[in-house]
Amino acid sequence: QHAKINKRDYQIYDANIDKNSIERFQLINELKEAIEQNQLVLYYQPKLNLVQQKITHVEALVRWIHPKRGIIPPDTFIPIAEKTMQMDALTRWVISEAITQYHRWQAKGVNMCIAVNISAENLKDEQFCHWVIDTLAHHSVPVSAFTLEITEDAVVSDPKLAVKQLTLLRNNGLTLSIDDYGTGYSSLAQLKQLPVDELKIDKSFVQKLLHTETDQIIVQSTLQLAHNLGLKVVAEGIEDKETLQWLTERHCEMGQGFYLSRPLPELQFNDWLSQSEFN
Ligand code: C2E
Ligand code: MG
Ligand code: MG
Ligand code: MG
Repeated sequence: QHAKINKRDYQIYDANIDKNSIERFQLINELKEAIEQNQLVLYYQPKLNLVQQKITHVEALVRWIHPKRGIIPPDTFIPIAEKTMQMDALTRWVISEAITQYHRWQAKGVNMCIAVNISAENLKDEQFCHWVIDTLAHHSVPVSAFTLEITEDAVVSDPKLAVKQLTLLRNNGLTLSIDDYGTGYSSLAQLKQLPVDELKIDKSFVQKLLHTETDQIIVQSTLQLAHNLGLKVVAEGIEDKETLQWLTERHCEMGQGFYLSRPLPELQFNDWLSQSEFN
């Protein structure tokens, strides 16, 4: 019996649990260094303008190239950054890097608008919003070249504050996009008050669009709603040609997805673009 109790005590320190928490703890500490030591990299995924049939925009998506662990996807470390007050440093790094990328493309004669993702933490911070506006101006980037993607839940947690910050950003000429639209809990009343330019329909409604009647109904009515509210629509998660065509026929303004391209590092993106039928 003694042995049994010992065994149970021992199991509290389950090796797997321990391993996970140690790993998490290490990532928290290492993230700060990663930002400072340039272990972060931006990948770029094209957004196709379905009206002009041309790549006019890209979305910048961050990856962490960890010296020992390899590529860590954003879904793993963005939540850590959010919980450990590192989102400000991370997003400032992302925007600074996107600005230098903008100028590298301009120097090659590539006129590209860049979308970056910002988190709820950023939107709570008035200084951050002013920093964005000042930094773009300081680096001679036209505000019209930058889109900020904000998830629905960033808006839901404190709608009043969100509206205030979004208004400031939009009055200064930035394009604002509601990301993952349809997966959050924003009401239509809230949506009506949001000073944004576009809705980005979540990929869960788009990926199997042609095989799922309810998804078709949802996407079709979202297009109608958005257009009636004067908003543009981006569909993410387009994985085949037929879906791209379906959305183009229904006047969706922009499309993004693995069918066009996965997110790619700068040089691979440039190669992809130069060979694209939509360049
Ligand atoms: P998101 O902003 O909604 O970005 C779209 C995600 O869907 C990307 O994943 C992209 O690779 C993936 N995706 C695009 N097209 C397809 C498709 O056709 N099929 C499928 N299955 N997936 C597709 P990724 O790069 O792993 O990013 C995941 C999330 O991490 C992003 O979702 C965004 O919320 C967050 N994230 C990425 N970079 C940043 C950043 O710099 N700052 C912040 N705050 N969040 C970021
Ligand atoms: Mg996004
Ligand atoms: Mg999204
Ligand atoms: Mg997402």
